[in-house]
Amino acid sequence: MNHTTITPTRPFDPDNLEVAFSTRTDKELKLAHLLFRVMGKPSLVKLGGIATLWALKLRLPVKGLIRSTIYHHFCGGETTQEAQRAIRRLASVHVQTVLDYAAEAQEDEPGFDFVRDEILRNIRLAKSTKEISYISVKLTGIGARDIFQKLQELVPLTMAEQATFARTEMRLDMICKAAYEAGITVYIDAEESWLQQPMDELAEKMMLRYNERRAVVFNTLQMYRTDRIAYLSDLLKRSDGYDVVLGIKIVRGAYLEKEQERATEQVYPSPVFTVKADTDRSFDKAIDICLDNLHRVELCAATHNEASTRYLTELINKRGIENHRERIHFSQLYGMSDNLTFNLAKAGFNASKYLPYGDVATALPYLIRRAEENTSIAGQMSRELTLLEEEMKRRKLL
Ligand SMILES: Cc1cc2nc3c(=O)[nH]c(=O)nc-3n(C[C@H](O)[C@H](O)[C@H](O)COP(=O)(O)OP(=O)(O)OC[C@H]3O[C@@H](n4cnc5c(N)ncnc54)[C@H](O)[C@@H]3O)c2cc1C
Repeated sequence: MNHTTITPTRPFDPDNLEVAFSTRTDKELKLAHLLFRVMGKPSLVKLGGIATLWALKLRLPVKGLIRSTIYHHFCGGETTQEAQRAIRRLASVHVQTVLDYAAEAQEDEPGFDFVRDEILRNIRLAKSTKEISYISVKLTGIGARDIFQKLQELVPLTMAEQATFARTEMRLDMICKAAYEAGITVYIDAEESWLQQPMDELAEKMMLRYNERRAVVFNTLQMYRTDRIAYLSDLLKRSDGYDVVLGIKIVRGAYLEKEQERATEQVYPSPVFTVKADTDRSFDKAIDICLDNLHRVELCAATHNEASTRYLTELINKRGIENHRERIHFSQLYGMSDNLTFNLAKAGFNASKYLPYGDVATALPYLIRRAEENTSIAGQMSRELTLLEEEMKRRKLL
């Protein structure tokens, strides 16, 4: 990876909107403003999501409208070629791209192979450009959900299922090996808790295989889970003495309601916190633990939370961590929290955007999740909308 040498870090100022929106034209700002206003209304989002799914199923001509609005804001394009424009714009302000093929869970072997090949192509592309150093992998894109679940529940696999799972591991190994050889980093996303244990085991196996000098492979820890601090501490203990740099990407977790609903329905203790402050504490505690072990950990703080981001930047400065660009990564989703990403990059931190790409229909579940995330809480305007309005006032567009 092409790291610059130690950069003296300038103050991180997430309120600098000029920097935050420097890559957005007036037209794009107006579109984003309209989008976030619509997304602010929960009932519209729910209705819009259902209506769009049906319209696509019925082959109504809505693709163009989606493509030029919500898709344009949150995705890079339908192909990696189309995504180049966004990638270059990010690179122009020293923001790296995490190329994210927006395929939701696949159903069969040809689907899994297709996703693997797409990711391998992306690694080759990343090798030939300086602007992409990271790619993301969702394990349900390259392996069967039901087999992950059976493994977690210790249900014995049939011979055929064992062979299927071996192929999943082989696909992941091909991806990690190619990334290792190309000098690229792989972020393995975290999924539902009832599939996660075998996923953790696969990620750990890959780390042991490929993370000798640097973290080629990152596993993701969802800090809304009550057991993740214990998992992190245990992982550190188990890997002590091995020649391995642990890649730890921390997130709060995307499936809160699903986790809670399943636990209630199937009557088992919820694996996630019920109070947001507990998740926040657990996230910041994971930061502390990773920083205490930076000689053998690379950390990626994947969050839109300003307090956690600020907390980490302050710790880096307070502890005088000189090699922070190599060891500590910050990441946000494309189209969200630009005030964090661009001001982090401006301040000399290692910042990236997850940039999804893929055809509009495939990306739709991803877009619906983004819309739901941005609906208003108790009628309050979302943080994104507030920032957009401030920038529009600054540009005299409002
Ligand atoms: C670059 C990037 C990569 C990501 N990759 C993954 C991934 O691999 N797997 C994954 O699951 N998610 C992933 N996410 C999504 C992430 O888990 C969060 O859903 C999202 O980022 C919102 O959390 P936040 O830290 O940004 O900020 P905030 O807005 O401060 O936090 C919102 C989050 O807090 C938690 N929360 C909210 N209410 C409660 C409550 N009452 N009790 C307990 N906890 C609560 C939930 O996790 C919720 O998503 C990723 C996010 C980013 C930015």
